Amino acid sequence: MEITIEKTTSPKTKPDQNALGFGKYFTDHMFIMDYEKNIGWHNAKIIPYQPIPLDPATAVFHYGQAIFEGLKAYRTDDNRILLFRPSKNMERINITNQRMCMPDVDVDFCVNAIKEIVRIDQDWIPSAPGTALYIRPFIIATDPYLGVRASQTYKFMIILSPVGAYYPQGMNPVNIYVEPDYVRAVRGGTGDAKTCGNYAASLKAQERAAEKGYVQVLWLDGVEKKYIEEVGSMNVFFKINGEIITPALGGSILPGITRASVIHLLKAWGLTVTERKISMDELYQAYQSGILEEAFGTGTAAVISPIGELSWNGENIELGKEVGELAKKVYDTITGIQTGKVEDAFGWIVEV
Ligand code: PMP
Repeated sequence: MEITIEKTTSPKTKPDQNALGFGKYFTDHMFIMDYEKNIGWHNAKIIPYQPIPLDPATAVFHYGQAIFEGLKAYRTDDNRILLFRPSKNMERINITNQRMCMPDVDVDFCVNAIKEIVRIDQDWIPSAPGTALYIRPFIIATDPYLGVRASQTYKFMIILSPVGAYYPQGMNPVNIYVEPDYVRAVRGGTGDAKTCGNYAASLKAQERAAEKGYVQVLWLDGVEKKYIEEVGSMNVFFKINGEIITPALGGSILPGITRASVIHLLKAWGLTVTERKISMDELYQAYQSGILEEAFGTGTAAVISPIGELSWNGENIELGKEVGELAKKVYDTITGIQTGKVEDAFGWIVEV
């Protein structure tokens, strides 16, 4: 399928690279294509960034049939543009699509569409250390119909947002509230799909944690509220007595691309990585016996987010204000690969 291109005639003023924040500014163009049951995906185009008119009865507004992805384009010191494992995001969008009764997209076509729009808006990729161009592909159900059923029409769009350095003052371990009541996902639910409702459902706990002075919540399993699942919208890793443990994917955890990359990297370094269930009880015991060495979250936004403190049932697990040695090494290696400073030993980089 061809992508038709209509360039803007009124480019926007670009924001100050030192005050980008996250997801506040959008580039000059967007990608959009339509789906109809009998035609499939069609009408792919890159057009000036603009609002999309939708009927108030549009399915996505009522029953939340909507999904998204998130990845970044990085500018290297020698001015090349790199993507980190973009086909993994498009494979995951299809896993999400299947769960939400939405139509598959062609992985290669979508990676090319990402490259094409990033190329067109390349002047928007910031160059200051730690900054990047965040890429947000998403799909919404567009039938103007109030019956509860899978929509027969969809729109797939890609928008781009220059984003600031996640750690302008250096990496800081954050304090986390272990959420005792609300759950993010349940077995058989949609936890392993990147669907919008999961994020709406997570806000309440996030707000409550923030009121108590915590940066993020740690989610427990939805049945026994015993096993660790994720931290905020990141996967989570613990180093206990030399072994690295991350909760096994069991349907309720989002299979993070950073998570998979971290596991791969640690194994390549000869470290022991175990994907299994891990309970808060076990973690607390490890802490009390002095063998809990490090804890960190992983995700596209921050890559690695060290945990400094965990508040659980009135108990405090203190991991300190220093960034752990392993977290630092993983962070430096992955961000190094993403920005072309460290050799791409695993073939993770796609040049735009
Ligand atoms: N868990 C959740 C719930 C997320 O939203 C994300 C961000 N996509 C992640 C984990 C981390 O995934 P990734 O490493 O692919 O960004």
